[in-house]
Amino acid sequence: MKHYKTEGIIIRVSDYNEADRIVTILTSGYGKVQAIAKGCRKPKSRKRGLIQLFTHGEFALYKGRNLETITQCEGKQSFPGIRGDLDRMAYAVYMAEVLDGFAVSGEDQSELFYLALVCLHLLSVEDPELVIRAFEVRIMKLLGYMPHLDDCVYCGNPLTGLQAAFSSHMGGGLCKTCSTSDPEAAVCTLGTMNMLKQLSRWDLKRLRVLKMTPKMKREIGEIMQQYISQRLEKRIRSADFIQSLASVQNNG
Ligand SMILES: [Zn+2]
Repeated sequence: MKHYKTEGIIIRVSDYNEADRIVTILTSGYGKVQAIAKGCRKPKSRKRGLIQLFTHGEFALYKGRNLETITQCEGKQSFPGIRGDLDRMAYAVYMAEVLDGFAVSGEDQSELFYLALVCLHLLSVEDPELVIRAFEVRIMKLLGYMPHLDDCVYCGNPLTGLQAAFSSHMGGGLCKTCSTSDPEAAVCTLGTMNMLKQLSRWDLKRLRVLKMTPKMKREIGEIMQQYISQRLEKRIRSADFIQSLASVQNNG
């Protein structure tokens, strides 16, 4: 199989040589694919507007030793709602970095692909912070890393009262008594813990009716970024950019 076609989303782009680009495509059937688009930065190239971040399309690929070559690309959508908005773009870039970190090559990744597609759609139109909080929980669930939230992960007692904590190391919620057993545990409200559970099974198409307070969003963001980077075993660089955007907006 030297030539093959696949549906995918471009999740990473870098310029190469004078007029080429090297991209990472999250495909449904073949997982993560690295490919070169030759000449796509030339003014007259037909691929010019297509080979960019978040293009969802049908890609015709030619298999190489290290790198596939994109011979054709038929764009399905390019999410202009994300492109025209710095906040949405920042969240989408963060999502792409997380997807890139977890996706593997040469395997069926259709569930990951569809999660990415649905979340890109939602990121174009809904509250981007709400969408990304849902994405974080759903990708962990999908990969089998759903944290333990039903009772205390350390002692097994029910999580009661208003205050709880979340331990990334132990992978779940801690009751008030055990919250000091992990010095790095993030303190949060029980409401936040329940919201994490709700996000794990909520119909994403009905995300806008979910009542999530700014405090829950902030706590879930802190919890999930720490948890995800621990699972990835590396820092998520684009999360820092979102933080800096938020602080600029809060001070402005
Ligand atoms: Zn406990």
